[in-house]
Amino acid sequence: MRSLDEFAYGKLAALERARLRRSPVVTARDGIYVERGGRRLLSFSCNDYLNLSRHPAVIKAAVDAAELYGVGAGASRLVTGNHPLYEELESRLARLKGTAAACVFGSGYLANTGIIPALVGGGDLVLVDELSHACINGGAKLSGATVLRYRHGDVDHAQALLAQHRVAHERALIATDGVFSMDGDVAPLSALAELGRRHDAWLLADDAHGLGVVGNGRGSAFVGGGADVPLQMGTLSKAVGAYGGYLCASRAVIDLMRTRARPFIYSTGLPPPVVAAASAALDLIAGDAAYVAEPLRKARLFTRALNLAEAQSAIVPVIVGAADAALAASTMLEDEGFLVVPIRPPTVPAGTARLRFAFTAQHPEAAIERLAGIVRSRVVGLAA
Ligand SMILES: *Cc1c(COP(=O)(O)O)cnc(C)c1O
Repeated sequence: MRSLDEFAYGKLAALERARLRRSPVVTARDGIYVERGGRRLLSFSCNDYLNLSRHPAVIKAAVDAAELYGVGAGASRLVTGNHPLYEELESRLARLKGTAAACVFGSGYLANTGIIPALVGGGDLVLVDELSHACINGGAKLSGATVLRYRHGDVDHAQALLAQHRVAHERALIATDGVFSMDGDVAPLSALAELGRRHDAWLLADDAHGLGVVGNGRGSAFVGGGADVPLQMGTLSKAVGAYGGYLCASRAVIDLMRTRARPFIYSTGLPPPVVAAASAALDLIAGDAAYVAEPLRKARLFTRALNLAEAQSAIVPVIVGAADAALAASTMLEDEGFLVVPIRPPTVPAGTARLRFAFTAQHPEAAIERLAGIVRSRVVGLAA
């Protein structure tokens, strides 16, 4: 089909001109190191915050499950793809999050595209923090509800939107990242929960970067005094080191998901080795508070060395502005032996291209200090 290829080439050429074309780079990962173009680099661009994807107990759980149950689930969980391993994983998740029940999805992205449309639809309202992850926006759009974006972290703005629009809609949802994926800050969850209670709006927090890292490893709803978040979703692919998404909520909400969330119904269950690995990783997270505190401690070594606002999570952005500047800074760090992937629009708003540093438990302190020194002398100035 000529028109099809012409369309694809035309799109790619336009992206190329805007320097927004992307492609996956082959990367061999070995713990905190990656190999690119024949060079070994210390990576600050992996979300494996606790390095559990390489933990012997996690690997063993996956190998044992593969040998016992095979590699694939074979069908949707509502058909024949269900397995006792899923229930074990779900009860661990619910226990860690302090909810009555939990439900596992194929991925975090799939979870949000299933959860949100199962709860709201035409005639309903979704309020979304403007810096929320793409899958929250995707799920909100798929739902057919009216979607309004409030300014980042701005509870007063969310309140004003609810005051104006809540009455005209039957149901309402407030959806936000718990830890923001590109900024590393924690959402004002207790204020949002209170706002939700006042306006009968259900709060969903996406804890992809919170679980295993903040709130003693229990996630963003457990930071500080804690917050009453009725819909705690997240991923098993980051600090948990495996794959899959989840929702922790009341028994009724979880039962609804199992019957109404389309990615749960129409997509094959997760592979048993992945499920077993996630369970083993959650046991480690629940059982070792000192280790769980390490990524945040490492991130704070970095922010202190650079005089930046104290890190609230394992993610620290250094905003340089122009996409080209972020690319140049990343190339410079690569020459110094560090992999720090530049984050450019449309992942972040135009003019806020950045280096995004992700700290893990096993990053050596001396390397963090050396990295901070290089960033201080050769990158921070770019933003000015
Ligand atoms: C990574 C991420 C997701 C997607 O999770 P996957 O399991 O990788 O699909 C969802 N939300 C946020 C905030 C994320 O950072």
